[in-house]
Amino acid sequence: MTDHHVAMFPGSFDPPTLGHVNIIRRSLRLYDRLYVVVADNISKKCLFTAQERVDMLKDIFRDSDNIVVVSYDGLMVDFARRNGIGVMIRGVRAMGDFSYEFELAMTNKQMMSDLEVLFMPTDPSYFMLRSSQIKEMAAFGADVSSLVPEQVVRLLRDKIVPASPLHDER
Ligand code: ADP
Repeated sequence: MTDHHVAMFPGSFDPPTLGHVNIIRRSLRLYDRLYVVVADNISKKCLFTAQERVDMLKDIFRDSDNIVVVSYDGLMVDFARRNGIGVMIRGVRAMGDFSYEFELAMTNKQMMSDLEVLFMPTDPSYFMLRSSQIKEMAAFGADVSSLVPEQVVRLLRDKIVPASPLHDER
């Protein structure tokens, strides 16, 4: 049976940012339980493995016992159906996000008619924040500590050896 008091927040989280954390914390005000589902999608090239992304999220939310962090390699609607989840939350930043998310919501609704998709607008502080930008900044050695949780700062440092744009080849 589908339970509309239980929600899921699916995504790549490569890596998790404070924008994701904000949506997760706000979703917890609305739902009894939240599944944070890391998409383990082989066709999408990620910097972190699905296990690493799950571990980062588990560590970030280690004090919240109403969050379940898992990875899933299938369709998110199948995950919802198998776990009786009635709500899918998606964060939206700009209009560009909205049109993509809207189409995705239509597709998901067609596949699972009793799933409710909710769009949560980003907090203005995280309006410009996306995981791809974090990876790019880290690659150039920029400070990302105000944009991602501290665990992520450390792991990014281990994973990415920054190119030095200031290095003089002569
Ligand atoms: P991205 O690479 O766009 O950060 P994800 O697949 O990890 O993507 O995103 C998972 C969900 O989190 C999506 O619904 C996405 O719109 C949302 N999200 C990502 N960054 C933010 C942010 N800064 N504010 C609000 N929602 C966000």
